[in-house]
Order: sequence, then structure tokens, then C-alpha cells
Amino acid sequence: MRVIVVGAGLAGLSATESLAASGVDVVLLEAGHRFGGRTRTVKDVYINGQYADSGAEWVDSIHWRMHDLMQRFGVKPLGQAMPWTTIRRWLYWDGKLFTAENIDTLSPGVFQAIEKYEALADSSASGVQDPSRPDLHPDAAQLDALSLADLITQSGLDPVAKLFARRESQGEFASEPENVSSLFVAQQRAFEQSEATKQGIEHLSQRVAGGTAQIAIALGSQLQESPHVTIKFGTRLVGVEQDDSGVVVEVEGAQGRETLSGNALILACSLVPLRRVDFRTAMPSDFHEAFHNLGYGPITKTAVQFEQRSWESGYGTTDSISQRLYDPSVDQTGSSGILMSYCGGDAGQRLAEYSEAERVEMIAADMRQIHGITSAQIGGFSRSWSAEKNYGGAYAVYQTGQITSYWNVLRQPWGRVHLAGEHVATCNGYMEGAVESGRDVAERIVRSA
Ligand SMILES: Cc1cc2nc3c(=O)[nH]c(=O)nc-3n(C[C@H](O)[C@H](O)[C@H](O)COP(=O)(O)OP(=O)(O)OC[C@H]3O[C@@H](n4cnc5c(N)ncnc54)[C@H](O)[C@@H]3O)c2cc1C
Repeated sequence: MRVIVVGAGLAGLSATESLAASGVDVVLLEAGHRFGGRTRTVKDVYINGQYADSGAEWVDSIHWRMHDLMQRFGVKPLGQAMPWTTIRRWLYWDGKLFTAENIDTLSPGVFQAIEKYEALADSSASGVQDPSRPDLHPDAAQLDALSLADLITQSGLDPVAKLFARRESQGEFASEPENVSSLFVAQQRAFEQSEATKQGIEHLSQRVAGGTAQIAIALGSQLQESPHVTIKFGTRLVGVEQDDSGVVVEVEGAQGRETLSGNALILACSLVPLRRVDFRTAMPSDFHEAFHNLGYGPITKTAVQFEQRSWESGYGTTDSISQRLYDPSVDQTGSSGILMSYCGGDAGQRLAEYSEAERVEMIAADMRQIHGITSAQIGGFSRSWSAEKNYGGAYAVYQTGQITSYWNVLRQPWGRVHLAGEHVATCNGYMEGAVESGRDVAERIVRSA
């Protein structure tokens, strides 16, 4: 049996590992030249051995598959594990910096108002009996028709609380609240609650010492040694044909085009680049619709290193171009430090229209203004995931109506073609989900062989 896997991110690598362990031969195709996909740690533009993650950055306490992988490859968590409410440390509003202590002077009771709104958004989670099937919620159609923006309106938030709610949506879902189904939020919360209960732990997040990219690199390097695995970098999937006897793919690489055949095909990458692939066998209409229309949120991460750390610690929300600012190097040694801007939704998309150098310049100027930074700027990067050819977005977001119409459809095989990746996981939008989806699809293929 031979399976073709497209994408050497955590989903494709996990699928490959599980298949090879069952004695299946795998050809793993990767359009780029590295393992890890949306895990990508940047080191070379910084001094003092500091680094920042341009894609995935935190591993949650409940992400047991990721913790297992980290342990296996000797990768350590870094710093103190924290709940997400720490993002409310300070606010930059209308040219002034407010701390959690004096924010009441601007907006009395803002955090209580936000908590009430979050409780409303989370309240439907109890109806999700099985987080892998949110479409079976008793009020699925009604909830799926409501967006996070509708819940913000219902909550009657003041402009400051509204900014926090919008920034949370742009950060967690990489999307404007108008583009997030409230049933999707319920699914995510139900998953988090059920995992925390099952594992008997608190849901916290923590960074990775040395950055997240090394996890996929370690797994990929191990797979390179397997007699069952052939890995082809710089090889892009461009065409697919399938029938009862097998699947034939056309790929494009440095040597031109070639065809490869197998018993099954796993598409373990974002759907956006796959929408350019020539699928010569017609897709069923519901699958075609979901495949071409599932939402993806844009994120631009920009991280600038300054010679001295001279800023308000902790996470900050801003009404400026930077959206959210924090110090990803807070647990790294050295007197220099890195500031990160995490910009999602419409503004993340708008930033993508500028060159990387322009983005770094604009964001660095904003950082200087907010924190009054005067020390020298050493280096920086800016990555707009929506502008990257192999990704086309940061991660999937189920928009209004998409849980009921697309969730289950995308998780079923289309003949010999199986989807893997964060977008079809229960733990949607996370590295954990990528691993989960890759292993699940491999198991499905082995079981049906
Ligand atoms: C800005 C940002 C912040 C994030 N933060 C976190 C976080 O803090 N914690 C967390 O757990 N997760 C986070 N994530 C999500 C996490 O990075 C992803 O869920 C996960 O890495 C996705 O893995 P994947 O294998 O599904 O896809 P990918 O990592 O995208 O891998 C797919 C691979 O397929 C390749 N490919 C694409 N098209 C083709 C083609 N036609 N032919 C061949 N190869 C192709 C790509 O080059 C890529 O290497 C973040 C993501 C982003 C973008």
C-alpha cells in the first residue's frame, strides 16, 4: 500500500509517522523547502540568541499530543503557564496608556463587562455534547446563524469593552467578529472544557524554549530515516485524478512535472493553496462548496528587537495599527528584547499589502510611540500569512452557517482523498489539531485497507 501525503507541516508529518508505523509506504510532498509549515521560528535577524515565532507560539496545557512530542524530542516549555485573561494587562487608547489598575477611569467596570460578554459567548458550549460534532447541537442552526458581532451587540458593550472583544476575536479567530460563527466559539469552548476536565488540569498556555519550529523539524528528521518514507521538498501538488483503482497526482518541482500514483491521498495543508489544484475528478457538490468557501483568517505578526527592554510588561491591547503588543522574549536572557505585534482580521489583511520592510517600519514606529522607546532598533521580521502562497491565511475560521454546512462534510473522505490539517481537527486552529487530524486520517486509511 502506498499513500501520498501533501504537506510537511505537523498534520502531514503526523499522518506519515502513523502510516509508516503500520508498514505503509508514504511519499510526502512539500512545496516549500522545510518541515513545519505554520510553525516557523525566526532567529537570524536578532542578536543575543533571541528569537520569536512567526507562526504558532504557545502550547496549551490541554494539548497532550504536543506535550508528548515535546517530551520525546527533549523540547522544554518556557516561562510561566498563563490563562488568556493576562491579555488585559494594559490598554493604549486615544494616545494614552492605561494599566489594569487605572483603566476604570476610562471605562468603569470594563473587565466585568467583558466577562459577561464572554460568559454569553461560552454559554452555548454546554449544548455541544461531543466537541467533534458541534453540528449536532440541539440549536445548531440558530447558533450557527449568529456571529460574535451579534453577541457583542446583545451585550451592550461600551466602546472600550468593544475594542477588547474585537481584539479577542481578531487574535483568537484571526477574524472580525462578524466573520465568526457563535456555534464555532461554542465548539472551541466545549473542547477546551472537556479536555481540561478529562485531564483534570487548568487550561493554561505556555511558550516553547527555542521556538515551536524545532518540534516538526525533529519529527521530520526522524521520518527521513524511515525505510517506508520518501520525502520530496520543492514539490507542489498541481493535479489530482482518482478512480476505483487508485489516485494519480501531478506534481511540479525543480525537474518539471511528473505523475505519482498511490492507493490514497492525504491533503494535509490549508485549503487556500489547494483551491488552485486541478481536480480532474468531479467533487460532490457539498464537498466542493465547503472546500472552496471555508473561511480563513489573516494574521500579520511583526516582531522588532530593541537594544533595551523599556516597555510596560505583559500583554497590551491597542486601538492602533499594532492591535496587540507583547514581549515574546520576556523569558529569554539578555538586556535587549523583542516586541511583537499580533494583528488579525481586516487590519491583518491590510498590512499584507505592504512590503515586509514597510510593515516593520510602521509597526516599530507605533511601538516607539506607545512605549516611548528610544533605544536602537536591531532587527525585525513581519509575516503576513494571508500573503504566503502556501498558506493563504493564518488558520481556518468557521463563519456563520459553516459549522452546520461544512463541518462534517470536510471530515469525510472524498473517495480516496482525505483531508488533514488544523481546519478539520476538533482542536481547530492549533498545532495540537494538526497532529490530531494527521493521526486520525492515517488510522482511518489503515483501518479500511
Ligand atoms: C500567526 C499564527 C499564530 C498561531 N499561533 C498558534 C499558537 O500559538 N498555538 C498553536 O497551537 N497553534 C497556533 N497556530 C496554528 C498552527 O500553526 C497550525 O494550526 C498548524 O501549524 C497547522 O499545521 P498543518 O500541518 O495543518 O498545516 P501547515 O503547517 O500549513 O502545513 C502544510 C504544509 O503544506 C505545504 N503545502 C501547501 N500547499 C502545497 C501544495 N500544493 N503542494 C505541496 N505542499 C503544499 C505548505 O508549504 C506547508 O508546509 C498559529 C498559526 C498562525 C499562522
